[in-house]
Amino acid sequence: MKKIAFLLVAIFCSFAFVGCGSSYNYVENLTSYDMDILYDDTAHTLTINQTTDYVNTSNNTLSCVKFHLYPNAFREGATAKVVSVQNSELAYPNGESYGDIEINSVTISDTNANFEVGGEDENILSVNLETELYPDDRVVINFEYVVTLANINHRLGYGENAVNLCNFYPVACMYEGDDFVCDLYNLNGDPFYSSVADYDVKIVYPNAYTLASTGNQTTENFEQVKETTISADCVRDFGMVLSKNFEQKNKVYDDRVTLNYYFYDDENSAQTLELVEKVMTFFEEKIGEYPYSQISVVKTNFVHGGMEYPNMVLISDDVADYETYELVIIHELLHQWWYGVVGNNQFDYGWIDEGLTEFCTVYFFEKHPEYNRTMSEMISSATQSYKTFARVYESVQGSVDTSMNRPLDEFSTEPEYVYNTYVKGTLMFSTIYDLVGEKKFTNALKYYYSHNLYGIATPSTVIQCFSRGSGKNLEGIFTSFLDGKVVIK
Ligand SMILES: [Zn+2]
Repeated sequence: MKKIAFLLVAIFCSFAFVGCGSSYNYVENLTSYDMDILYDDTAHTLTINQTTDYVNTSNNTLSCVKFHLYPNAFREGATAKVVSVQNSELAYPNGESYGDIEINSVTISDTNANFEVGGEDENILSVNLETELYPDDRVVINFEYVVTLANINHRLGYGENAVNLCNFYPVACMYEGDDFVCDLYNLNGDPFYSSVADYDVKIVYPNAYTLASTGNQTTENFEQVKETTISADCVRDFGMVLSKNFEQKNKVYDDRVTLNYYFYDDENSAQTLELVEKVMTFFEEKIGEYPYSQISVVKTNFVHGGMEYPNMVLISDDVADYETYELVIIHELLHQWWYGVVGNNQFDYGWIDEGLTEFCTVYFFEKHPEYNRTMSEMISSATQSYKTFARVYESVQGSVDTSMNRPLDEFSTEPEYVYNTYVKGTLMFSTIYDLVGEKKFTNALKYYYSHNLYGIATPSTVIQCFSRGSGKNLEGIFTSFLDGKVVIK
């Protein structure tokens, strides 16, 4: 997510590769999700039949499989809030509103399965398996459920201009060590962690709407409704946005990638699409190829600056001005590389994708003088801003925790998360850029990307890849920033 931090306006955002046309081939034998969805725009519900072909990628034998139920974060009485008090009014323009997910049935091989909805906020669905699932084996699980949307300008919910349909389905929890990772929703950052999977989705919706989504669409028009089928391979998540107000512009570049821009009220739409092309081509050169065939930039009602999903980014219609709007687009598009293709545990290590994304945004501006922002100005502004944060926190709280390697629920406030993840992350990568120089820094970006395609990067992966890719041991610099020992002057 882009939480427009410092630079900006202070709101406080080993696989086998086989098959496919991209030079970065997709992973085979992934977990897959087939969904049949009906959207009712009167009741604001999604009625879904989902078949998940789950593969056990752990080294353990499993007796159950767990799934996140993110829509239950929007329930009345949920202990984990989806927005801070400061953002409540913007998120809920029509007052409080709630949504949830109701699981009606879970079956395995046409037989009712034993399942349980648990977790602090009814946020985890556990499906018990009749027969144990060995490593590399698969189980096909069918779910029937209804998602009710809240009237909220968030990742999931309906607003005045659009319906955001993200994090709406039961998605398999990652398995690490000897257990599933079942973190609760958090209003800080992006509380998600998932592996790449294949998706085949069919959605039926009133024909007044236009649909933006992850993946590649085929749409049939009927008298009352549209039916869109979507295929998305080797993607980390799946999201959609529906709107009656969308205008659309698109362009194909390199005979390979379609750039889609869905918007309303953008008098600079041609300029916006031009920016999208500049960002994609620049970072394909500096980081590595974008391995999918479309990317959609979607303007929508959203409480924060923006939010990334595979092949699709949400850009808030509420950002302060067009320059900020452009900045958010650059940031969110960068997440296609940092979060999308190279994944990380966003709950435990938000700095991995956000810090690098934010610094790469600065690097884009440095190399595109037509946008009138230089790296030295932006880094100087970030430094001042971070120092102010540290000074204020120290004087108010008596001390300030400047460590970066913390899970989302260990940041006591939204600013503490934003400054230590986005701003300090930018300063950390900027320090490394200054130390090794541009050429070795981009070598490190390429090395890190190409060695972690479709996988999960951890802090040690980042340190190792940047050290190897730049030819310089960077462990001391990384750890001094991450542990909070470095003094920012
Ligand atoms: Zn972000």
